[in-house]
Amino acid sequence: MTGTSLVISESHVTDVGGLAVHRSLPRPGRRMVGAWCFLDRFGPIDVTPERTMTVGPHPHIGLHTVTWLLQGEVLHSDSLGNQQPIRPGQLNLMTAGPGIAHAEDARERSRALDGVQLWVAQPESTRHGPPSFAHHADLPHIDLPHGQATILVGEFAGSRSPAATDSPLVGVDIAGIGALDVPLDPTFEYAVAVLHGSVRIENVHASPNELVYLGTDRQGLALFLEEGSQMLLLGGRPFPEEIVMWWNFVARDRTELARAYQDWTDRTDRFRSVTTSLHRIAAPRPFWLE
Ligand code: MN
Repeated sequence: MTGTSLVISESHVTDVGGLAVHRSLPRPGRRMVGAWCFLDRFGPIDVTPERTMTVGPHPHIGLHTVTWLLQGEVLHSDSLGNQQPIRPGQLNLMTAGPGIAHAEDARERSRALDGVQLWVAQPESTRHGPPSFAHHADLPHIDLPHGQATILVGEFAGSRSPAATDSPLVGVDIAGIGALDVPLDPTFEYAVAVLHGSVRIENVHASPNELVYLGTDRQGLALFLEEGSQMLLLGGRPFPEEIVMWWNFVARDRTELARAYQDWTDRTDRFRSVTTSLHRIAAPRPFWLE
């Protein structure tokens, strides 16, 4: 089997803390890739006092945030008390469970900023468990014939990332030039997100901020990377649970979402507080409430 045909989707530009970001997931027609349910690219930008990443305290439920930088430095602060700078080549993995809050602050830390933040939906078996945070400064690298792969999460080409996963999942950063053959798990669905340069996948040419959905049933993938190209390979077992996403929450129904909104708005103990000079972000009122 050669797998399903490729589907290319454009990102859309939205605002996160005053910074324009390109959102590749979720998009109409493509909500998830495995448990991956959100992909924002921020940058590349030259940082100025007026233009940098300053995302004040805000809550999450039911997901992991995965932060991966290409340039610059961002300080993560969360309501568990963690204060962790992240730099290129490192991974921040935050687990929200029933509730966590965090802030992301790049002020006075870098002259240029570029990176991605992804969300991974937690399955029913873990989403009621404790929130946590992990910083992985040393991820496995694999030398490819014409490039290098860094394994952010999951297993790829026989090596495994130390980052915890709650469902069968993989995320790999691939940088290189020329033809690359990458092994895939036929039970996973996959997508390619181009970060820099241009990547040819079969007869499709993909550019930055485009997501190419590959489907399942593939043993491998033939890529051609133009000079200076970098991409993310995202994959996972098709997520078997129906999720509902709204604002910063992943849940199963609107009642859960409305409860999370109310708990954040009422400042209950559920999300606790974050130590930062950035301002707390108020939740918008759910549109389905009276
Ligand atoms: Mn966040």
